[in-house]
Amino acid sequence: MSNGPISIASEKCRGCKKCVGTCPFGAIRMNGKCAVLRPDQCRGCMDCLQSCPIGAVTAAVDDVTDHQTLGAHRGVWVFAEQYQGKMREVVYELLAAGRSLAKERACDLAAVVLGHNIAHFAPPLIAAGADTVLLADHPELARYEAETYTDALHQLIVRHKPEILLAGATAVGRAFFGKVAVRAYTGLTADCTALSIDLSACLLNQTRPALGGNIMATIMTPHRRPQMATVRPHVFNMNVPDPARVGQILLEALELAPASSRVIRSVASDPSVNIADSDIVVAGGRGLKKAENLALLHRLAEHLGGVVGVSRACVDCGWISAARQVGQTGKIVRPKIYLAFGISGAIQHLEGIRGAETVIAVNSDPYAPIFDVADLGIVGDLCVILPALLEVLGGQSAPDCGQP
Ligand SMILES: Cc1cc2nc3c(=O)[nH]c(=O)nc-3n(C[C@H](O)[C@H](O)[C@H](O)COP(=O)(O)OP(=O)(O)OC[C@H]3O[C@@H](n4cnc5c(N)ncnc54)[C@H](O)[C@@H]3O)c2cc1C
Repeated sequence: MSNGPISIASEKCRGCKKCVGTCPFGAIRMNGKCAVLRPDQCRGCMDCLQSCPIGAVTAAVDDVTDHQTLGAHRGVWVFAEQYQGKMREVVYELLAAGRSLAKERACDLAAVVLGHNIAHFAPPLIAAGADTVLLADHPELARYEAETYTDALHQLIVRHKPEILLAGATAVGRAFFGKVAVRAYTGLTADCTALSIDLSACLLNQTRPALGGNIMATIMTPHRRPQMATVRPHVFNMNVPDPARVGQILLEALELAPASSRVIRSVASDPSVNIADSDIVVAGGRGLKKAENLALLHRLAEHLGGVVGVSRACVDCGWISAARQVGQTGKIVRPKIYLAFGISGAIQHLEGIRGAETVIAVNSDPYAPIFDVADLGIVGDLCVILPALLEVLGGQSAPDCGQP
């Protein structure tokens, strides 16, 4: 019996209840000696398919992509997010990752640009590794609007059938990729930190932290296409662009209805809080002891031409905005120099500084884990070291760094 993503053949079912025990959502129950589906509970995870020893549980034909259709999907796509005439850096990082995936799958890599008057974006995307650039140029796409973007990308998916679709885990990528996945009736893994191809099954391994960052989970989408993932900025390195690369540009005509909502005004956030792209990050942790001492970090950052970042402890204490948090649930930074004052080096924090070229740590505890990743470690009291540094740089007496 069906009505949902799976079908249970009552004439075959022997009542072994294995599918009942397997379903994580309690969507299969026994009706006499036969298992039956509760369609309203079924989430289409397909776990039950493997559990039935006699093949009585199958994917509903009208609902799941059959193998023939799976095979029709080909190519790796990167959603090339642009904002106010500039391409997001994460796009180039994804093109580098996408190139490796496309090579393994022996297929093309495409970049998809949505917007209006966007032709100038194509050459740099090709130079960065795209074989094809799909340009969906439409006045309705001039400004990001989730409903219209979803509609546009979904139309392109239906038209071209990509196998893999990647986007940056930016505010825009996070907001509308989920909607696209729902529309395309496929899976989406958000915030991936690693991607690879399982060549035996031709599947995308989508790896991301799970269970509070304590384990890395690798997620696959075996029954649906495209396989969709968002990836956090700064996880992958971008390739050196090759302006001599040749690629094709496809102009995609789309039928788009006017969006039901309109952006009346947008207010830019403070650009000084963009810690992700700074070459120098002066970061502080709970060892600063009180919010007022962040002023010392700001002064040092000013001297060095950098920005202030913090550990989550500082954000949790209410000392500073979460926009400056570095780490797994904050920003991933990739500065030339990362200075860590009074930061212990918890795994979730280190997750955010893996790409830092040089880490300099000041901590009073010689066994603090931050020293395991530091290129230069200073065991000492930041309340002595930080004011002394400022005095040397600024030539004036530093403020008092007292106790909380
Ligand atoms: C799901 C999850 C996600 C998380 N995400 C993040 C994240 O994105 N980013 C993040 O940072 N954390 C994150 N955390 C929290 C993380 O586990 C740590 O609790 C946090 O990073 C600790 O911050 P801290 O190093 O500032 O504080 P502490 O661990 O308390 O360390 C303070 C350090 O300061 C040193 N110190 C104290 N006094 C002085 C002094 N006078 N001079 C010099 N050193 C001194 C101490 O020796 C100590 O090493 C997350 C946790 C979970 C569970």
